[in-house]
Amino acid sequence: MNRDNQPWWPVAAAEIQWSERGAPYSRQFDDVYYSREDGLAESEHVFLAGNRLPERWSHCADGSFRIGETGFGTGLNFLLTWQRWRELPPPRPRLHYLSIEKHPLTREDLARAHGHWTALAGVAEELRAAWPGLVPGQHRLVLEGGALILDLWWEDVREALPDLASHGPCIDAWYLDGFAPARNESMWQQPLFDAVAALSRPGASFATFTAAGQVRRGLAQAGFEAHKMPGFGRKRESLRGELVRPATAVEPKVTPWDLPDAPPPPADSALVIGAGLAGCSTAAALAHRGLSVTLLDAQALAGQASGNEQGILYTRLSRRHSPLTDFALQSFRFAATRYAQLFASGALQRGSDGELCGSYHEHGDPDELALLAGRLVSVPELARVLSPERAEPHLGVLPSRAGFWYPASGWLNPPAVCHAFAGTPGVRFQEHCGEVALQRGKAHWEARGDGELLARASIAIICTGVSTDALPALDWIPRQAIRGQTSHIPGSNVSSALKAVLCHAGYIAPAREGRHCIGATFNLRDEDTTLREADHRHNLDRLAAALPQWRDDIERLDTGALAGRVGFRCASPDYLPIAGPVPDREAFLRTFAQLRKNARQLIADRGPYMSGLYINTAHGSRGLSSTPLVAEWLASLVCGEPAPICRELQRALAPSRFLVRDLARNRI
Ligand code: SAM
Repeated sequence: MNRDNQPWWPVAAAEIQWSERGAPYSRQFDDVYYSREDGLAESEHVFLAGNRLPERWSHCADGSFRIGETGFGTGLNFLLTWQRWRELPPPRPRLHYLSIEKHPLTREDLARAHGHWTALAGVAEELRAAWPGLVPGQHRLVLEGGALILDLWWEDVREALPDLASHGPCIDAWYLDGFAPARNESMWQQPLFDAVAALSRPGASFATFTAAGQVRRGLAQAGFEAHKMPGFGRKRESLRGELVRPATAVEPKVTPWDLPDAPPPPADSALVIGAGLAGCSTAAALAHRGLSVTLLDAQALAGQASGNEQGILYTRLSRRHSPLTDFALQSFRFAATRYAQLFASGALQRGSDGELCGSYHEHGDPDELALLAGRLVSVPELARVLSPERAEPHLGVLPSRAGFWYPASGWLNPPAVCHAFAGTPGVRFQEHCGEVALQRGKAHWEARGDGELLARASIAIICTGVSTDALPALDWIPRQAIRGQTSHIPGSNVSSALKAVLCHAGYIAPAREGRHCIGATFNLRDEDTTLREADHRHNLDRLAAALPQWRDDIERLDTGALAGRVGFRCASPDYLPIAGPVPDREAFLRTFAQLRKNARQLIADRGPYMSGLYINTAHGSRGLSSTPLVAEWLASLVCGEPAPICRELQRALAPSRFLVRDLARNRI
């Protein structure tokens, strides 16, 4: 969905009326969510039995089974599916459940609905703990240690299904559950049945509670064979069926330059070049999916931009949607959950490796703050607008200006995060390899260091930031190095009052091992690797301006004796990361040459891409927030899974966006 420049609002929640027996009823659609008699038994009969689950889970070809649902509602279908999957003896297939919902339930309504299903209490509690609330966009929830993925798309199916369908088949079973067709036409239209078919893998099945003629005919036209089966409760009939004809491809609405013209090669192994946050998170996401990963670095782990002692989990809010702010919010939320899981599992240690203690971001635009204060009321778990006085109890110190309080944020030690990711079983890390060069072999990518073969694998992902590319042919991808110097200041009785992260013109977090790593400077076209006293002064001046009550202590510090670190962030011209398949530049320019004449014309061709080659870089100062979601996206792409982000964001991250822009401006 193209939301660019639309006002940013939380999604509108479901408006529910509760029956005396506690069953939810939708005021928006004037219909029940599930059978008033027994929702659980209905779900079991219509959706699980209708799709022959759990039987089919025991013989899934590639070890992963994907379910698509239209209408998440209370999550009853999902919870029952999760419970049945959990009851299977291992080995179980990995389960991916993608659900699209226009009006999600509030936390309170969700808890009220779940209160009735004691048999599902355990999984229901876990779902509520991970619930994304009413934050717009797509939400990937990684459950059961990664064996179960729940993708929640808070969108109208009419937007989401065609968006998802552009990538082609990835679903094995459908739960079509969008209120009665007579009450909600929006869920039962031919373009949606076509998109459902386009998303279906061979042999995919569907099940739905309705047997309405228009649904049967629509699904048949899309390529499904539909069978009537007995309905549940008062309903006489319901429908189930299988895809029997390959679907016709969905007509592109925009030039599909982002979609490769050939399917990705099957991958069982990967080379990841560069062991910073981007490389380590990518290696972990691939290894979680069973790939054997070789992670290579010219130097040590986290030796470059990811080597600071403390980094902040940033995001940004804005009154309007844009790829930059939408990506910043979605990636932040995913990262915060990911790090919370790493702390919970013991892979990260609270205190030395970081703390999700919340962060407060001063904001200089009072109008925007006032506007967003109202809009954030329904998403308090994301952010709240606070005055300095209201922020003080959270921070432990009085900030100078009003701003946003992000309760899920905090600080991390980036090298510890890199270690935690690189320690994922299935990742083999090789450091000090010298400059790594990539070469395409017959069916593999080969990595060489000093001319020696280091490793070979089916795919390669370049995550080398501003260092020399492993493939010289990629030097057209625009990246800039931005010098940043941090300063290490000793913790004191005064600074120990700080309980959370404060982002002003710079940032400071509670002390780690007795000192604060503050920063950071921001200098383009500056290659100086030595620590500069003037930069320490700059960092300290900004801190003193933000916390005047600390000024005396700050002025006593000897800038000549301060430790610190110089790093070079890698940023793109539009400050979004650069991530995705790498285009074959010359062939790409030929295919889309007509864009030079008319940038708006629709060219139906897909893009030529280099087989099995991906890039993941340019995370700027936000690598802690942005890398986990980008890694997840790339791993999904490699494994043919549904993507965790919408196509608009995928296009905004794609390296080929720069070729398209240059063609459109006739600059190339
Ligand atoms: N599967 C649900 C469960 O387990 O509780 C029940 C789904 S309920 C019958 C139908 C759902 O479809 C509602 O939550 C409703 O908000 C959603 N819905 C209706 N029209 C929609 C649309 N156009 N796009 C996305 N969701 C829609």
